[in-house]
Amino acid sequence: MSISVENISKLYGEQKALNNISFKVNKPEIVGFLGPNGAGKSTMMKILTTYIEPTEGEAKVNDFDIALQKQQVQLSVGYLPEHNPLYLEQYVREYLAFNAQVYGVNKTRIEEVIELTGLTPEAHKKIGQLSKGYRQRVGLANALLHNPDVLILDEPTTGLDPNQLVDIRNLIKSIGKEKTVFLSTHIMQEVEAMCDRVIIINKGEIVANKTLKELRDDKEQVVVVEFDYRVEDAFLLKLPKVKQVVNTHDFVYEITFTTTDDMRSHVFDFAHDNQLKILQLNQKNASLESMFRELTNQ
Ligand code: ADP
Ligand code: MG
Repeated sequence: MSISVENISKLYGEQKALNNISFKVNKPEIVGFLGPNGAGKSTMMKILTTYIEPTEGEAKVNDFDIALQKQQVQLSVGYLPEHNPLYLEQYVREYLAFNAQVYGVNKTRIEEVIELTGLTPEAHKKIGQLSKGYRQRVGLANALLHNPDVLILDEPTTGLDPNQLVDIRNLIKSIGKEKTVFLSTHIMQEVEAMCDRVIIINKGEIVANKTLKELRDDKEQVVVVEFDYRVEDAFLLKLPKVKQVVNTHDFVYEITFTTTDDMRSHVFDFAHDNQLKILQLNQKNASLESMFRELTNQ
């Protein structure tokens, strides 16, 4: 097991940042840790990288205990912090060489991670001369130096422009083929673009833990129908697999079904059986984005 978290809670003074969190991450897998700002993502990541200690609970990274085997955990993990502290006056190789020394890593590994993260054309520059996208690559190169099995990346794509975003996503995806990647984000599309699984956290609690496939499969469907006459909601609630009926305006109804099967023919039959005319009939899929908003009440 790459990451195993059991009943972790974290209090900052009076404030509970994490409330009894448990989850597991296998290898190799890219798992998105999704939640709005302040949800507790960075706190969880700092605990897993041994930067801070939990108030309660246990966790293991690469089967090493975060409280009892700190050093082994640190050697197993590559960490890209949320605000990556780069030294702008340092050259890329100089920065990586310093960290290579800290980890006792061979110098040839520096060139390897430069190549691996696509830094080669910029590697002769000072970090301060690099774009945000390339600075993130330096952070990733640094996290990869000691060839850890697990990468913990705190909001690795935040603040990147669209081109940089695509490049860094691709880089993370290729890293994820061999290593376990646990990355945080507050943007649902990031999860859709990169991850095999998503763990959604809100106010320090886990509200969903699903593969992307599961999320898509239990996606709800909304059928928007306009009749030529008023219909009682209770009547429409008799349709199969209906979750909710909302009369949005006039004779227009939004019917939520808990299935991905196209339910329009059922609505059509319903109208026919009740001598109603259908003036319009459309199907919408509840997107992952709206599911995230719903789960986190945003
Ligand atoms: P996220 O990374 O999801 O935005 P954080 O883990 O940074 O969330 O923060 C979770 C909550 O804990 C927030 O309400 C934040 O204000 C609070 N918090 C984070 N770090 C500290 C700290 N060092 N001292 C006090 N409160 C903190
Ligand atoms: Mg954070």
